Amino acid sequence: MSDKVPSIRLNSGYDMPMLGLGTYNSFKPNEVGDAVKTAIQMGYRHIDTAWRYTTEPEIGAAVKELIQEGKIKREELFIVTKLWVQFHEPDQVEPACRQSLEALGMDYIDLYLIHFPIAFEDMEMTKPTSTDYLDTWRAMEKLVDKGLVRSIGVSNFNKQQLERILKMDGLKYKPANNQVEMSPYLAQEDLLQFSLKYGISTSGYAPFGAPGQVYILKDAPKNLEDPTIVKIGRKYNKSSAQVILRWGIQRGFALIPKSTNPSRLTQNMDIFDFKLSEEDIKAMLALDRGYRCNAHLFQACKDHPFYPFEK
Ligand code: NAP
Repeated sequence: MSDKVPSIRLNSGYDMPMLGLGTYNSFKPNEVGDAVKTAIQMGYRHIDTAWRYTTEPEIGAAVKELIQEGKIKREELFIVTKLWVQFHEPDQVEPACRQSLEALGMDYIDLYLIHFPIAFEDMEMTKPTSTDYLDTWRAMEKLVDKGLVRSIGVSNFNKQQLERILKMDGLKYKPANNQVEMSPYLAQEDLLQFSLKYGISTSGYAPFGAPGQVYILKDAPKNLEDPTIVKIGRKYNKSSAQVILRWGIQRGFALIPKSTNPSRLTQNMDIFDFKLSEEDIKAMLALDRGYRCNAHLFQACKDHPFYPFEK
């Protein structure tokens, strides 16, 4: 199945599969490891994690098991992890990266992202600091030179922040990727077009609006039940989830839906045998309502100059 998944050529020269597996949740023991093993055997090659998710050790162990059983080679996988907000000081970046490498049991990371543009004193994001992400970026570039990571990027950055990195003095490596929320209710067309123009790939998180995730508000809109999406799905004999993923792929970004359920893992992979019409893509773009499913989590830094979202 993996040969069906198209890739995006990153500006670093490496290829990133356009469909990946999300691994954020409050998992039961072995749940994420089992999902990773199932997914890789189904053909998933891109796995998204982060130091903050605490899933790196289980993911690393699952991958190691499959490698030892001869089911996959490390170089066939594309592993993404992220620098958490209390490690933005330049001298903390390499130790944080090495911590993730150790947790994963790997000797390189395919793509390492600054998880959020604002630095904090604490893990829970209650005390923002003034550390500039440009200084963090310079330390990220050194990780590439040391061979610890193959590509570097950012997450939750807006257009102005990407532009600021692109224009920084002495820039050595452009961000290869920006991982942001992307769903029919948060289409981010402007940010996507800017990124495409400047060769920065985009990965979309929470494509389904993250139903079932602990932090989701009770009255959050449910895009999987949206009548327009359900109707388009009927036309192609596909589920709403498959239509949403296909819509993202055709718009030119990668997607990392989370599932630990084998039948939904299969379903989310089964999106490469149909193509949405331009009309359907436009109808889905018209559903955009600027709804950001995790905006309420960032209240402590709303007035910070690096706050990335609309206020
Ligand atoms: P999501 O992928 O939109 O939603 C996940 C939820 O949808 C799970 O409850 C899953 O349940 C369900 N689901 C999966 N496939 C489905 C299908 N075909 N039909 C119906 N329901 C389905 O939200 P997310 O997990 O928040 O985002 C995806 C990944 O993006 C995360 O896991 C994480 O890796 C990453 N992320 C990054 C950031 C960042 O700041 N960079 C923020 C949030 C998330 P089952 O497991 O039961 O199938």
